[in-house]
Amino acid sequence: MRIVMIGTGYVGLVSGVCFADFGHQVVCVDRDSAKIARLDAGEVPIYEPELDVVMARNVDARRLTFTTDLAGAVVGADAVFIAVGTPTRRGDGHADLSYVMAAATELAHAMPDGVVVVTKSTVPVGTNRKVQETIATANPALDFEVASNPEFLREGAAVKDFMHPDRVVVGVQSERAAKVLRDIYRPLYLRDFPIVVTDLESAEMIKYAANAFLATKITFINEIAALCERVGADVKQVSRGMGMDGRIGNKFLHAGPGYGGSCFPKDTTALARIGQEHASPMRIVEAVIEVNEAVKRRMTDKLLDLCGGSFAGRTIGVLGVTFKPDTDDMRAAPSLSIVPALVGGGAKVQICDPQGQREGAALLHGVSWHDDAYGAAEKADLLVILTEWNEFRALDLSRIAGDMTTPRLADLRNIYSAEDARAAGFVAYEGVGRQGYG
Ligand code: NAD
Repeated sequence: MRIVMIGTGYVGLVSGVCFADFGHQVVCVDRDSAKIARLDAGEVPIYEPELDVVMARNVDARRLTFTTDLAGAVVGADAVFIAVGTPTRRGDGHADLSYVMAAATELAHAMPDGVVVVTKSTVPVGTNRKVQETIATANPALDFEVASNPEFLREGAAVKDFMHPDRVVVGVQSERAAKVLRDIYRPLYLRDFPIVVTDLESAEMIKYAANAFLATKITFINEIAALCERVGADVKQVSRGMGMDGRIGNKFLHAGPGYGGSCFPKDTTALARIGQEHASPMRIVEAVIEVNEAVKRRMTDKLLDLCGGSFAGRTIGVLGVTFKPDTDDMRAAPSLSIVPALVGGGAKVQICDPQGQREGAALLHGVSWHDDAYGAAEKADLLVILTEWNEFRALDLSRIAGDMTTPRLADLRNIYSAEDARAAGFVAYEGVGRQGYG
């Protein structure tokens, strides 16, 4: 199959690279010429495990190319995927569809007949029909079809997720479009991964419903964690005991500093907005959004308590600023509200993040960056674990405590315990949803 991927971000680049690895001929298009130049030079512009290796393999095999020229790319294409951003629109919380519609309009004039246009971006129900209308209005003579193929990969495990999905969801209007998508995903299909074929609206809804459900699960355990602290329970034991129930499952039950990232915040906000527009309020999702904000505020209060009520004059080490490990993505990361609160309160903030500095340096001001956790902790009055990167999971806590001015630990991912901290010489420890000391 000949595939064009519009957008070379986290989703578009990974999808394009993996489709090429399936054996398809793929052209990745982006309007960002600097990004295309880097890709052409063999450089991967984002941090995503394995992506560099799979990308190089497919460029070498001449199955994968990069360009800014959409018209040139679509010649002879069987399918064109739209994988551009759909951020929150300023002001009303709705998904900003301007990038999707701009891509559709460009396609209307560039595409040959017979192409299936596939929306991979996360878009509100009804958007695929708008894409269809936009193209048909701009070029009434064009023979084309529109399909929906929402993406479920997780940043940090994107290549693995794309190659081993729990399911592939495809929303179509004809058997012909379904066949094109089945042919594209055939290498997975042969390995028995289910392809769920639905109508356009259901496919669009599956994506929002799935993300909102996951955000709800995280927020639920975060709220339980707050109660655990009050009643003397340990949320780690609670989530373990809950998660063993097959009806509940143990994933997304880890208490922490609140969800962030490029998807959950914007997709829950957009779903709440869609509900309002259709007079069918998403009350649970609205509560999730509100509680998640409260969770982030609660984390800052916890840090304030550990610092004796004021950040002024304190030195605070921060481990991890990306919204989760194994990514360089800082979009809506909890660090973006927590770190400015520390700096604004007068603290000297020393950060270590294995991949976050490039993005983080532009977003977090008045902080210093360190190569390892030990450097970030040196002479600090408080060390905060914000992102559970693997390299923070087996630190020499005694060495860290010895190097700090006042050894206090705020473990907002619960990777250590009060006993670990006490044994290492920390004078205070706070996790999330469990009993600390000091
Ligand atoms: P991103 O911001 O990383 O990348 C978007 C890319 O599209 C950018 O490189 C931009 O330059 C390019 N672009 C925008 N308009 C263009 C146009 N008209 N022509 C060519 N290129 C254009 O976005 P992302 O994180 O990859 O997300 C893309 C979509 O996938 C969003 O709808 C998102 O909700 C969804 N999604 C994201 C994830 C994730 O983990 N990031 C997971 C599942 C779904």
